Amino acid sequence: MTTQKSTIADLAILGGRPAFSDQLYVNRPNTPDRKAFLDRVEGMLDRRWFTNKGPLVVELEEELARYLAVEHCVLTCNGTVALDLASRALGLKGEVIVPSFTFVATAHALLWQGIQPVFCDIDPQSWNIDPVACESLITERTTGILGVHLWGRPCDNRSLVEIAARHDLRLFFDAAHAFGCTYQGSMIGGGGDAEVFSFHATKVFHTLEGGAVTTNDPEVADRVRLMRNFGFTGYDEVAVLGTNAKMSEASAAMGLSNLECIEQFIATNRGTFEAYLEGLGQTRGLELLRYDEGERHNYQYVVLDVAEDRLGLSRDQLMHVLQAENVLARRYFYPGCHRMAPYASRWPEADGSLPHTNRAARGALVLPAGAGVTLEQVREICGILRLVADQAAQVRSALESDGSEGSHAVIAPARRVLPSQ
Ligand SMILES: *Cc1c(COP(=O)(O)O)cnc(C)c1O
Repeated sequence: MTTQKSTIADLAILGGRPAFSDQLYVNRPNTPDRKAFLDRVEGMLDRRWFTNKGPLVVELEEELARYLAVEHCVLTCNGTVALDLASRALGLKGEVIVPSFTFVATAHALLWQGIQPVFCDIDPQSWNIDPVACESLITERTTGILGVHLWGRPCDNRSLVEIAARHDLRLFFDAAHAFGCTYQGSMIGGGGDAEVFSFHATKVFHTLEGGAVTTNDPEVADRVRLMRNFGFTGYDEVAVLGTNAKMSEASAAMGLSNLECIEQFIATNRGTFEAYLEGLGQTRGLELLRYDEGERHNYQYVVLDVAEDRLGLSRDQLMHVLQAENVLARRYFYPGCHRMAPYASRWPEADGSLPHTNRAARGALVLPAGAGVTLEQVREICGILRLVADQAAQVRSALESDGSEGSHAVIAPARRVLPSQ
């Protein structure tokens, strides 16, 4: 079944057999109880009510508001559009301060509406927006702050709330990673003026495609609801500019069914995370990002911080070693939003002020987790990582001495097209 590797010659990248015959993915979608889902779809077909305030969407909004301990949950067709609607509902314009070390949708949602994302550096420990750096970026054009609970680890909400109040700014959060996580013991979802979730298929809780704006502010909730459905207030009355951001009943059926299994999904993720923690132990140059035991987490992301100088191999070299074994570890948020064309071409100077972001983007390697791996596979992945770390110098020279093509010769299979995100 599996072959334990004992020398670097066993590594697939150096000519050995891949450790796994199947590809191991970072984010394999969770699946609910099939019958629960199919029964709901049957009901939907019987009703012939597929969208537009259908009963499943209404039920899911109520269930989620309860689970997230927030007054209002407005479901949308995806998380990116939910970010769009939230920033419009909050009346943002001019400049909004946002971390660059995030999925590009966070920044896109702002620039798509002509709002300038002002990229803020992260705290080197938490990898979340640094409140001190944030405050120093406020100008008279600033209207809001958009924090991201990266990997589900909460932002320093308290400091951000104080800053927003001091400068009369709106504060909201991209909580796409933070479903089921807490901040100071309270469920993430009710922070700031609004929080935004993604329920994309790869997230711990998903609705195939989907998202939500959650808020305790009834006016914000009303505005998002209106804009979600073209601004309709009556059969032929349109009160505001809107769009179509509605969630379908099929998506809500998946959501209701997944919500019944969420604790099980989180327990699986936690088991995987702990197996990595145990399997890696203290491996020089490879630091597993930890979760604060005082909070609840969803453990969806198992993130290695690869310190090239301590390991003796670059993060990318390590990634290629793993990918050759069919362990499809991935860089995340690389190279940072500020280095992506739509942003780098407009604000090239941002790069100079984001040292911690650039460092994180160089070190982060996300490992297969959750539904994508068994505990046995995790142990074997850890064995490979330890072998490589122990003999990093030899691995590096083997990779780099591989003729004129260097390490790229072995990267070349361009590792096929991965499922999105
Ligand atoms: C997934 C994700 C989004 C986008 O959500 P979609 O539902 O795919 O549109 C936004 N921000 C972050 C941090 C994400 O991880």
